Amino acid sequence: MQHFDLTQLQWNSSIREQLLGQGLARLPHAMLLVGPPGVGKTAFSEQLATLLLCESITAEMTACGNCQACRWLDAGNHPDFRRVAPDGDDEAEEGVNEKAKKRGPGTIRIDQIRELESFVFVGSHRHGNRVVLVTEAEAMNGAAANSLLKILEEPPTNVYFILVSSRTKSLLPTIRSRCRVIAFGPPDAAAAAAWLASAGLEKQAERYLNLAGGAPMRVAQWKAQGQLAPLDAVVDSLLAPPSDPIALAARWDGLLKGDGQFRMEHLVEEVQRWLFDLAQERMTGVVRYHGGWPRPIGVQNLNPTSLLAAWREINQFRRSARHPLNQLLFLENLAAHFLRALRPATS
Ligand SMILES: [Zn+2]
Repeated sequence: MQHFDLTQLQWNSSIREQLLGQGLARLPHAMLLVGPPGVGKTAFSEQLATLLLCESITAEMTACGNCQACRWLDAGNHPDFRRVAPDGDDEAEEGVNEKAKKRGPGTIRIDQIRELESFVFVGSHRHGNRVVLVTEAEAMNGAAANSLLKILEEPPTNVYFILVSSRTKSLLPTIRSRCRVIAFGPPDAAAAAAWLASAGLEKQAERYLNLAGGAPMRVAQWKAQGQLAPLDAVVDSLLAPPSDPIALAARWDGLLKGDGQFRMEHLVEEVQRWLFDLAQERMTGVVRYHGGWPRPIGVQNLNPTSLLAAWREINQFRRSARHPLNQLLFLENLAAHFLRALRPATS
């Protein structure tokens, strides 16, 4: 488990107080942590799990970090803890059959939930609590969600379910209604910058925080996944694009072939946000996402109607960005839409 000190996540302290203020005994047995990505839900859920299993909780209501339970959790082998996460990622899905592809990347399957049944209905190894942590709970397919629902309907004693989701719309409503829903939001700018500074990312804060929707841990994740350099390169390509869509597409194609996890869907999203900012800047003078970058010359000559039209049209690219039939053709088409939107209002 990654260990973030909960006390560093200041913006979550009211949630902590609300949940733990009356002691662990009053904690609900099924909790659903919701909110945008990168605001500390998973870190919080892991801390909560550790707290429920620690055998020597401190006076400040934190896990001791030294007991057998804490050591097992650190090593990832506590017998009374189960973590359920989507199986496989995009890469693992490459080359498998069409049916599996349609299922989409990262699904929580029914056999992963069935394995929980023997875990939750058999007694605890340590005569204490047992904890099931389900991250990206929305990734449960229908069968898996129904199977979990059955367990939640007859909750075994001393078993805690912590579900985490950034996309609750995809979550079965009956699952949601079985859980205490705990909503997380992004911190204010000062707290976010302070967290990034504590993670050694103070330089990144100004540039990327707005792009990350104000979610500091998302910036840290982008850094860890090697997404920041390609992101910078995309912004450079948008700031002073070549006039030829084929040349622009070739530049993007090169970026997508890099080592990091910067993918087509990130590129499409970034182009869309850039257009959004240009339109907003032209109409209101406000730059929502790219305030930390240099602004292009001649924004005042752009046509906001064309910018917004292109911004809308690019939605269709978002839908097929994960599996374009022909990557280069897809990029050329995207580049053509982008460049067309930049034609000055007077022409
Ligand atoms: Zn402990």
